[in-house]
Amino acid sequence: MIKVQKGTKDILPEEMALWHKMEENAKLIFSNAGYGEIRTPIFEATELFARGVGDTTDIVNKEMYTFEKSERSLTLRPENTAGVVRSFIENGMHRLSAPVKLWYKGPMFRYERPQAGRQRQFHQVGVEMFGIKDATADAEIIELAEAYLKSLGLNDLEVEINSLGCPECRENFKNKLKEVLKPYFNELCDDCKTRYDKNPLRLLDCKVDSCKEIFEKPEVKAVIQGDFICEECSEHFEELKSYLDTLGIKYSVNKLLVRGLDYYNRTVFEIKSNNLGSQNAVCGGGRYDSLVGNLGGQDTPAIGFAMGMERLYSLMKSEGNEQLDVFVVSTDKKEALKLVKYLRDNNIKTDFDFNGKKFTKQMEKASKVAKTAVILGEDEIQNNKVSIKNLATSEQITVNRDELLNNI
Ligand code: ATP
Ligand code: MG
Repeated sequence: MIKVQKGTKDILPEEMALWHKMEENAKLIFSNAGYGEIRTPIFEATELFARGVGDTTDIVNKEMYTFEKSERSLTLRPENTAGVVRSFIENGMHRLSAPVKLWYKGPMFRYERPQAGRQRQFHQVGVEMFGIKDATADAEIIELAEAYLKSLGLNDLEVEINSLGCPECRENFKNKLKEVLKPYFNELCDDCKTRYDKNPLRLLDCKVDSCKEIFEKPEVKAVIQGDFICEECSEHFEELKSYLDTLGIKYSVNKLLVRGLDYYNRTVFEIKSNNLGSQNAVCGGGRYDSLVGNLGGQDTPAIGFAMGMERLYSLMKSEGNEQLDVFVVSTDKKEALKLVKYLRDNNIKTDFDFNGKKFTKQMEKASKVAKTAVILGEDEIQNNKVSIKNLATSEQITVNRDELLNNI
């Protein structure tokens, strides 16, 4: 039998309600904030990612699906910022009045070791804003991420922010970091030994315990926790924090947050959940003021984020988001059919037992799949009434049929 490929998944009809909710809310919330949807191709020139994501990143070094056609090297997109930036440049969007605001959703491809929350084909929804250097843009982006997550019923999330400074302050920091880590070089994991030369900032991202211990050594910690960013960058970061305070957004500063992609400068952020195990990041984002210029466009500041939709899905699911609103429990199939139609016509997500099983079996099913049972027993049918049972609290009331909608 031919099976689905490792690290890929079918998304089945019973899962679709939550996927539609993620997609519809993205459209609603992002377009409300002035973002237009963009759809770019799923494969691009390999060089776009090598230059756009950075050839010292894990994504480019180990995770790309690359193939050749007519002597061209092509790659399935591992993320969508590079593609959006290519399109921004190619379509002359710098001529539009700033800010240019775009959002996208769709499949991404990374050759990773599949595990919970990590697939080889997965989906992201994200936004990018071009043309604004001011920290108000950074605040809007983080606010937008939070508003979207809230719209999906996800509240229990933590926002972490950091500033990587500009290329100049970062160079300074990289040198200090290398110097203080030099005596420990032989104790670093193999990946970190490579990072030490190629991309020292990424050391801080290491998940290996023995490396984490080294970062806790007093002299190393002092460098990591120290303020390395220049005055201008630090002013920008302070402004961002004050805007987040103004917006009532809770955050913490995590100096180890460096993000996987090479192109970030100044603000980087992540939104994490405590209910996802080790793959706990649902959203990653940051500012990338030099990327448009590096890919051959006119220098344009930019900032954005991407969220992993499979991780959003599992959080929504664990919060009971996919449940039915109502399961109709009835001793009479015709009455059940009529009531189900009536509720569905009123946009209430409803289902019932097609086989007319025993009352107790129907109640058992209702408590598994719905928030509310609407009950039509013989008494109710005779008196033109319905009973409504809240399946979380077990409270039950009986009302006239025409009061049903007001009581669900
Ligand atoms: P991680 O640290 O989990 O590997 P990342 O830094 O590689 O994440 P980004 O490239 O910033 O992630 O992508 C943004 C979001 O996309 C992540 O926060 C995560 O929710 C999701 N994501 C990334 N890689 C995968 C994957 N292989 N499978 C499922 N979701 C993913
Ligand atoms: Mg990754």
